Amino acid sequence: MNIRAYRSRTGIPLFFALTVALLAGPAWSAAKSVIVLIGDGMGPMTVRAASIKLHGRDGKLVMQGLPVKGVLCTTSFGGGVTDSAAAATALASGYKTKNGMIGMTQDGSLVRSILEACRDAGKSTGLVATSSITHATPAGFASHVSSRGSEYDIASQLVASRVNVLLGGGKSFFLEPQGDAWIGVDFKDAAGTKLSGWSERMRHKTGEESERTVLTPPGAASANVWIWRGGSLNAFFDDFTLSPKKGDSATRLVNADFEKGDASGWNLWSGCEVVRDGASMALRVAPGGGCDQTVPVDAGREYSFGYRGRISDPDAGLPDRRLPWDEAARVGYVRIEKKGELAGASGPFVLGLFEPGAMENTPAEPTLAEMAGKAFDLLGRGPQGFFLMVEGSQIDWAAHGNDAEGLYRQMAWFDDTVKAALAYAKKKGDVLVVVTADHETGGVTVEGSTASTLKLAFTTKGHTDTRVPLFAYGPGSKAFAGAHDNTEVPQLIARALGLAF
Ligand SMILES: [Zn+2]
Repeated sequence: MNIRAYRSRTGIPLFFALTVALLAGPAWSAAKSVIVLIGDGMGPMTVRAASIKLHGRDGKLVMQGLPVKGVLCTTSFGGGVTDSAAAATALASGYKTKNGMIGMTQDGSLVRSILEACRDAGKSTGLVATSSITHATPAGFASHVSSRGSEYDIASQLVASRVNVLLGGGKSFFLEPQGDAWIGVDFKDAAGTKLSGWSERMRHKTGEESERTVLTPPGAASANVWIWRGGSLNAFFDDFTLSPKKGDSATRLVNADFEKGDASGWNLWSGCEVVRDGASMALRVAPGGGCDQTVPVDAGREYSFGYRGRISDPDAGLPDRRLPWDEAARVGYVRIEKKGELAGASGPFVLGLFEPGAMENTPAEPTLAEMAGKAFDLLGRGPQGFFLMVEGSQIDWAAHGNDAEGLYRQMAWFDDTVKAALAYAKKKGDVLVVVTADHETGGVTVEGSTASTLKLAFTTKGHTDTRVPLFAYGPGSKAFAGAHDNTEVPQLIARALGLAF
């Protein structure tokens, strides 16, 4: 299916229309609003496992009870396994892009999102997530950056986009324009399982040096030295060292001869290369980029880890130094930070950030369902309807960690949110509800069909290209049935809303 097919379809035979009306329940007119619920990393077996675990053999999740069912192909530009950035871009804008890129095609052309189209048509808009609100999935609906790691830039853009309701974590990205770099060492056993780790945050200082003594835990076979760059500026490193603390201290385990332009031994991620930096050579790490290197270590031995680096020119590239948090207040956002402030918050623009980073799932925070409920309430007041995306962000993280119990918990919270959305849509009658995922994580397999015999296994700690489930309810939902590419989702939404897109 493509958009041309929809536009050329001028009428539906009466018999077909009646059949559809009988099968789909109420005869929908047009959708005025849409709620898109994305379970990050939620594959078909994730849904099946959670259904059995939470509701037994004969029960089902709320999402499974939605009348329209389909599947989505999720591959990113080039046909490979997608990350959340490319997937969000496809779901929001209808374009494939390279992993890591948000709101633009692989060649850097900006693409409009369905949220932006709804906003420009006079609808209210909202984003709700349990990650930082600047994380890839919500970012994909209202920002345009070449690297998902540019979360400070994303924060500025979310505010500049005037998304009416922004609820989730990530306050720190609204407060620190230059960002940071994380540097760490993870100790792993012979099977590659992480035993312990150490990391620290390097702020935007010039010529920062650090030296740490790290003790390998019992059973450690290797050390993975890594750096990850957030923020919007490049970081430059001259030196990394990992040396045994006693004895043969001349032996550097980590090879970092950047001075000779040599980065061999390093696994360089995106945006990472050895470049001339002033008079010498350095490893440049672009926003969202990073690198790592794994070296063998002796269990129980002390090592010394050190680095020397800097984040470039903190004043460059920031013509407007206003922090997004302050800018939000200036342009009229009501800002809240505590669960207790949520119920009373009102106004055309509400920015609620309840943690510096991701939500931590504590009773001190609002739940995903509570944040979504507040968004329905705030956005539903607009006369023209709304577009809202709600993400169960941490389903993905539980699956990355191959944590079955965490996965069930996250799925329960996500499905509670679907339940709230469905109840709201049933009450209003003109709300399209779409539940899907950006990709599958964990390569989940399920054995057993009752809660007591259920055995969930993971085949990977990464993402897969397994097709993800899609459920829909409400006006325009019928078109979501069957198999689609993820790029079709915004077209189907636009069509349900009667919007040119
Ligand atoms: Zn994802």
